[in-house]
Amino acid sequence: MSPTQHTPGGARPRLKLGIRPAAEAAVRAGHPWIYDESIRRQNREGETGEIAVVYDRRDRFLALGLYDPDSPLRLRVLHAGAPQRIDADWWRRRLEDALARREGIADAATDCLRLVNGESDGWPGLVLDRYGDALVLKLYSPVWLPRLDEIVDLFQNRLSPACVVLRLGRNIADRAAAYGLSDGSILRGAGPGGPVVVHESGLRFEADVLRGQKTGFFLDQRENRRRVESLARGAEVLNAFSFSGGFSLYAARGGAKTVTDLDISEHALAAARRNFGLNLDCPAVAACVHRTEQADAFVWLARAAPASFDLVVVDPPSLAKREAERAGAIRAYRRLNADAIRLLRRGGLLVAASCSAHVSESEFFGAVREAARASGRRVEEVAASGHAPDHPASFAEARYLKCLFLRFR
Ligand code: SAH
Repeated sequence: MSPTQHTPGGARPRLKLGIRPAAEAAVRAGHPWIYDESIRRQNREGETGEIAVVYDRRDRFLALGLYDPDSPLRLRVLHAGAPQRIDADWWRRRLEDALARREGIADAATDCLRLVNGESDGWPGLVLDRYGDALVLKLYSPVWLPRLDEIVDLFQNRLSPACVVLRLGRNIADRAAAYGLSDGSILRGAGPGGPVVVHESGLRFEADVLRGQKTGFFLDQRENRRRVESLARGAEVLNAFSFSGGFSLYAARGGAKTVTDLDISEHALAAARRNFGLNLDCPAVAACVHRTEQADAFVWLARAAPASFDLVVVDPPSLAKREAERAGAIRAYRRLNADAIRLLRRGGLLVAASCSAHVSESEFFGAVREAARASGRRVEEVAASGHAPDHPASFAEARYLKCLFLRFR
């Protein structure tokens, strides 16, 4: 049997775990992770991706999850509550639930959407994104590797994509290599061979589904980009940490006079220029002056001339990759946004975003509001937002995205 056809847990007794009371309470409350230190007993060694049964302290059924012997995050919970049989029909229903949750989210002019958002959709460590007629499956845990064929068949049969692309999170490349898989592998259909062009709110964007960050595009900012469009008329816009110009195209269509994309990556800026090129049939985009600046935004923002923009978007990559970096990240957000505020003219708008999961919403909003207060200017809060509806977040660790819109008089 090839490794991809192998479903672990075959003829042996079920893998059973007893867990500590604190973990039991967390699982009952819907938390999807059980760490190694929470396991107080276990009937045998388990294999990667094997389904384990979790018992409470009175030896009653508590949950089912996917086991990972090599990670401190030992079990990813699939189901908690009454006992259930996990078979093909169970997986099918689980996919239907995720799809039903997204009904009506994508308008007719949007063909890129997150269909499955990991733990929060009951698929721990797995993300499924639709990019036009391509599906991108991103794995953040090796627990899916042994049953990859089964679930990819399910996705293929239900969604009929032209192709399914596999993307791998950090640390699982070696595990995937044992199955003959690597980041960018084509699992079904013919691969796109390069970036694909997708539509978001009627705008065209290229998405590098084979190699790009995340799964090729930052789908999570869709709603915030739409809001920027509604606030950009006549503005000179700076899009700091622009990536491929997502916010910029919306601003341009919303009537911005000029848009400057600022990113450290020339590759990202080249994509932003191509994305403008893809949308020149829109008169507002064609009329907007598009500039790119390749620079370290932390340095550039601190040095730029004051009062030179009407709208500044600041959407840096995660500044706290682990808990120990949290305090430093909060300080960095405060400084970065203080610099951005300095660049705003009277009546200017700051759009401050954070994708650091280790920095909470109140910590981030607190840092931006502090920078606003310190500017001594009159500030009006326009909007505060979090996750797009196709990126549900069912537990604290999954809530990473927050965005604050502030108007400065
Ligand atoms: N707002 C974007 C996503 C931003 S992702 C969107 O809506 O699509 C973060 C971007 O920050 C990446 O493109 C990365 O290249 C860029 N980046 C990382 N460090 C940077 C730095 N020090 N200065 C400028 N850009 C940086």
